[in-house]
Amino acid sequence: MREKKCKFILFGILMVLTLRLCFINYKAVTGVTIEEKGNEPVTVWNTDSDAQRKAIVENERIRVDVDTKKSYMKLYPDLYVESIKPVISLEKKKIAYLSFDDGPSHITSEILDTLSNYQVKATFFVLGCTITAEGEECLKEMVEQGHAIGIHTYSHNYKNIYSSVEAFLKDFYQDYLLIYETTGIKVNIFRFPWGSYNTYNKGIRDELIAEMERRGFTYYDWNISAEDSVGTPSEYRIKSNVLKDLDSYRNPIILMHDSSVNKLTAKTLPDILKSIQEKGYVFDTLNHREPYQFGRH
Ligand SMILES: [Zn+2]
Repeated sequence: MREKKCKFILFGILMVLTLRLCFINYKAVTGVTIEEKGNEPVTVWNTDSDAQRKAIVENERIRVDVDTKKSYMKLYPDLYVESIKPVISLEKKKIAYLSFDDGPSHITSEILDTLSNYQVKATFFVLGCTITAEGEECLKEMVEQGHAIGIHTYSHNYKNIYSSVEAFLKDFYQDYLLIYETTGIKVNIFRFPWGSYNTYNKGIRDELIAEMERRGFTYYDWNISAEDSVGTPSEYRIKSNVLKDLDSYRNPIILMHDSSVNKLTAKTLPDILKSIQEKGYVFDTLNHREPYQFGRH
């Protein structure tokens, strides 16, 4: 009886092996594999037909193409930030957002003093190439006073930064690191030199914006400009440029500059702040505001 049982098991094993061998041959001859996917058996064709070979080559070409185009995604693996979470949505409250580009410079501390006197918070989009020892102190003071710091690239050199996404990332990363080393802050907002929609970045704009947003960064353009870096405007002109359109916006973003040539901006700032406050606005930093971006509004 026991011998009979053993023979039966042996026969079973032989049957399984034979069937498996047949199946392998079947696959080799027909090029068909049956795979289990969930409860549904799925047929996968393994034939080497010309059409299939062509499709495989084409897919491979597309894949390589995409990889080559986006090789910059692998650069600077630590250049990722947590995105801003705006706490103030655009509502009825009148909030003005002052922003200063192209600093820090020797006029920045004067601007910081004025802001402090008027208890106003602002946003500074800083350039790495202008950061001296004095500039480093300004950055620390900005943080202490509750202002927001944003990146404005290291060099502000359009030939360099807008030549490719890689070049922009390299320059941006330099500024990012410098601010981080100076203040300990991982800055997550930025402003494109000449704004997000300019003639210099035309060729790479969409790809660049997509890459910066993929890394968690938010950019801000503006809707009011003091025009304080265009020609040599008077104090009166700077002030009227800010105030003339102010009432068109409940949440204006005002572009000003604190580079070394903007002495008049620093000089007229108390007057500007007073006038804006008289119009019933309060001030806040841009990282609390929903983004405002050219071409998207
Ligand atoms: Zn600038």
